[in-house]
Amino acid sequence: RIQVRGLAKSFGDHQVLRGIDFESRRGTSTVLIGPSGSGKTTVLRSLNVLETPDCGVVRIDDVEVDFAKLPPGKAGRKEGARLRAQSGMVFQTHNLFPHRTVLENIIEGPVVAQGRPREEAVADAKVLLDQVGLGDRVDAYPSQLSGGQQQRVGIARALALKPRVVLFDEPTSALDPELVGEVLAVIKDLAATGWTMVIVTHEIRFAEQVADQVLFLDSGVIVEYGTSAQVIGDPQEERTQRFLKRIL
Ligand code: ATP
Repeated sequence: RIQVRGLAKSFGDHQVLRGIDFESRRGTSTVLIGPSGSGKTTVLRSLNVLETPDCGVVRIDDVEVDFAKLPPGKAGRKEGARLRAQSGMVFQTHNLFPHRTVLENIIEGPVVAQGRPREEAVADAKVLLDQVGLGDRVDAYPSQLSGGQQQRVGIARALALKPRVVLFDEPTSALDPELVGEVLAVIKDLAATGWTMVIVTHEIRFAEQVADQVLFLDSGVIVEYGTSAQVIGDPQEERTQRFLKRIL
């Protein structure tokens, strides 16, 4: 379960987040939509402590950080790292190690960062690769895969760390259009198997299909939230209506 309260963040004198509050229940998908620059990625990066909000509270299951009270220096970094370990991030581009096979890329985190036994990590990685439809490419190198396949390896790599929450930052925006569908299909499958997810995407039809909850952001605030039928199907706020009309 994710709980976010009063998240605020400025870059210089540009206030990018102006008090973000939401909750996501375990096993559900929350999708953030909104205009470019509205703060979606900054919300996601704050959950993973890739950005440090100026204030606000983020709780993921039993780890909570109150950013206004984060101690300086090492103690603060340690608290941040505990919260970061609760989530796994899938980026726009996968950053796979080019000289390592698919399997080696996936077991790196569990073995090196988490100290799990190699055999166990290998067995788990193979299950994950089956789930993302790449069970037969275990020994391939990233350059031998299509962009969509590489991104699916990136997803498996995030899941291999067994995070409480998976965060997707526009996971298809760097892909050729014909490769988008296969990646979205994998994310939909994962949502159906009970992962807790937060997804930033511009793919509104996909958002509609995958989301248990949609948050519409504009200028650093959540303007409207609800089910996809409510927010995308029947938006109440003028700003949401205008945004959807522009992109649909
Ligand atoms: P997009 O859909 O275009 O990715 P977004 O809704 O995800 O947009 P963010 O990436 O969260 O928006 O950015 C919100 C605002 O914060 C933008 O105006 C952006 O330029 C600014 N911003 C983000 N990161 C930084 C940074 N590190 N330094 C300065 N400004 C930043």
